[in-house]
Amino acid sequence: ATMRTGRYWMPFTANRYVNAQGEARVLTAARGAYYTMGDGHKVFDSLSGLWCTPLGHGNPRIAQALYDQATSLDFAPSFQLANPGAVRLAERIANMAPAGLEHVFFANSGSEAVDTALKIAIGFHKLRDEGGRFRLIGRERGYHGVGLGGMSVGGIVPNRKMFATVMVPGVDHIRHPYDHARMAFSRGQPQCGAEMADDLERLVALHDASTIAAVIVEPVQGSTGVLVPPVGYLQRLREICTQYGILLIFDEVITGFGRMGENFAAQRFGVRPDMITFAKAITNGIVPMGGVIVTPEIYNTFMTGPESAIEFAHGYTYSGHPLAAAVAHVVLDIMEEDNLLSKVRALEPVLEEAIHSLRDLPHVHDLRNIGLTAAIELKPREGKPGARGLEVFERGVQHGLLLRVTGDTISFGPPFISTPEQLRDMGANLHRIIATVA
Ligand code: PMP
Repeated sequence: ATMRTGRYWMPFTANRYVNAQGEARVLTAARGAYYTMGDGHKVFDSLSGLWCTPLGHGNPRIAQALYDQATSLDFAPSFQLANPGAVRLAERIANMAPAGLEHVFFANSGSEAVDTALKIAIGFHKLRDEGGRFRLIGRERGYHGVGLGGMSVGGIVPNRKMFATVMVPGVDHIRHPYDHARMAFSRGQPQCGAEMADDLERLVALHDASTIAAVIVEPVQGSTGVLVPPVGYLQRLREICTQYGILLIFDEVITGFGRMGENFAAQRFGVRPDMITFAKAITNGIVPMGGVIVTPEIYNTFMTGPESAIEFAHGYTYSGHPLAAAVAHVVLDIMEEDNLLSKVRALEPVLEEAIHSLRDLPHVHDLRNIGLTAAIELKPREGKPGARGLEVFERGVQHGLLLRVTGDTISFGPPFISTPEQLRDMGANLHRIIATVA
């Protein structure tokens, strides 16, 4: 079940998931909604990998598409040339996006998508002779990847600490819209708290709106524990941005492609941003791909004059990679053919029940859910934050449940192919585990 990690440096490790002998648990296989651990036992994949495998694992159609693409056109440089798969994919994604978001810039991960969007925001204002707009605004507890741009606008303070000297200047953060006292145990969106978006007005007053280029938020803050926007909150953010000519970016790396029961969270919440970043689910986690969807206004600004695109000087070797595009097309085909959006909508109340069935357990501090995402916040053990979360993780693995635990928070994003029974079993399993940890 374990393996010495030796020279292998796992992300975010020096962590506690390696035992005293330097051994880590390994995953050796994956099929459908389950991983197989090193000792052969199966665990339910409660976070779809890292929110990225909604169709489950081992899909033969995707494997075939990869093989076919790799043996026909395996790589295509995207700087002066295009490839049909990527061109058609851009069109397809634009058609899925909210009306008014029509052009797609491809990158290879969420971090790259975010840094691309931030650079597009700065470049857009610059090219429109609004060069004074250099400020970027993120949000407390936001996670936007690990690029220097994404970390700068990210709202996880310890992450920025070591790199304070290279963080992007002119970045501020609005407060996050979560207030435990008023919102704990909400099912879906909290009814109160929309006015927390007005915190953006504070920065507008402080800085002069004409210096602010963009605001970036995750519609649902995912990595920091599924913080669900209160009813009306995103609408208010949109209104303020529109009023002051500030671009609004939704980072939909987690929420994009169905997890909210709509193509994008923008549609679920009825708010149209100026850009959407995506990654993860578009390729079902199998090959890296990310990107940014933008308005024609933004696109046209970069397309007028040959020099504007050159000044922008932004692109990746693997932008619009044929293999990624081929996989993405099959992923979108399957989502359509199998009606996965309606499946997500049908599973949402099942997940909600499973999570909120834990309400009366003494260790539970809060429960949150929306779409096919949820979080359990445990009360930290006296003087030992994270210890209870770690124990729940350990017990989960023993009892057939792979959990994503950060500190004392457990985040959920089960595959869209989950059955209602699997989600109910997960709830019952969690109930037993959390009821019996110290
Ligand atoms: N943005 C959001 C909202 C994310 O959740 C993540 C990853 N969890 C990222 C950006 C970064 O994506 P990646 O790890 O693919 O760079």
